Amino acid sequence: MVETEYVLHLSNVEKRYGKNKILKGVNLSLQRGRIYGLIGQNGAGKTTIMRVIAGLVLPDSGSIQLFGEYEKIDFVRKNVGCIIESPTLYPNLTAMENLNIIRRLKNIEEDESLSDILSMLQINDTSKKVKNYSVGMKQKVGIAMALIGDPQLLILDEPLNGLDPIAIVRLRKYLQKLVEEKNVTILISSHILSELDKFASDFILIDSGEIKKVITKEELETDASTNKNLEEVYLDLLGEEQHSEVLNS
Ligand code: ATP
Repeated sequence: MVETEYVLHLSNVEKRYGKNKILKGVNLSLQRGRIYGLIGQNGAGKTTIMRVIAGLVLPDSGSIQLFGEYEKIDFVRKNVGCIIESPTLYPNLTAMENLNIIRRLKNIEEDESLSDILSMLQINDTSKKVKNYSVGMKQKVGIAMALIGDPQLLILDEPLNGLDPIAIVRLRKYLQKLVEEKNVTILISSHILSELDKFASDFILIDSGEIKKVITKEELETDASTNKNLEEVYLDLLGEEQHSEVLNS
């Protein structure tokens, strides 16, 4: 029997901002070599989960196990690449200078995959200051920052924002290749369900800070009893009222 290898376990993670409980006892396990699509309405808590995993905010309670570590979690976080919300860029530095900052922070001498990443993202002029880049180009630099250093876990918060259709396809194919060849795990959020449906292997549906359902693509495709596509399963979760409101609009 092949042992399932998990890269992440969140157990009963809670997070409040002021009086508002944003994450309400989140339990989540991510298996190596799978692509998890994180789906939820605006304000559902997707970014907050990602920030907790990336160590950008501390949970109020609950535990995080990353690559088998509870204690030395900051040490193993060097194996995590992330883009969370808008990319954090130094506007007066060039794209290459921004990338070099991440390289140094991650202690990467040379990254042989960098030229592949730049060409996949079609970032041709890396000597331009990023303040002069378009929104989509800035997003691409942010994605490149997440990809450098061969991360084993990628956390991509709405990475498709601002990308043109060609860039979306190129990124999708690149990420699929990373999973096939390097067994990377990806947690990706997007409001474009049709795009997530094309390449995620698992879907995590979250609402009001609670994970309501985790379903694999195979389950979705083979569960003849429900015979529902991703959008229908998701709308069902939001409740009959909103469901019919959306469908009738
Ligand atoms: P979206 O799809 O709009 O990006 P999301 O699912 O990523 O939404 P989060 O960004 O995780 O949602 O936000 C969840 C809730 O937490 C929201 O109500 C938001 O206002 C609140 N929130 C997030 N960050 C903070 C903060 N730093 N201080 C106070 N409230 C916050």
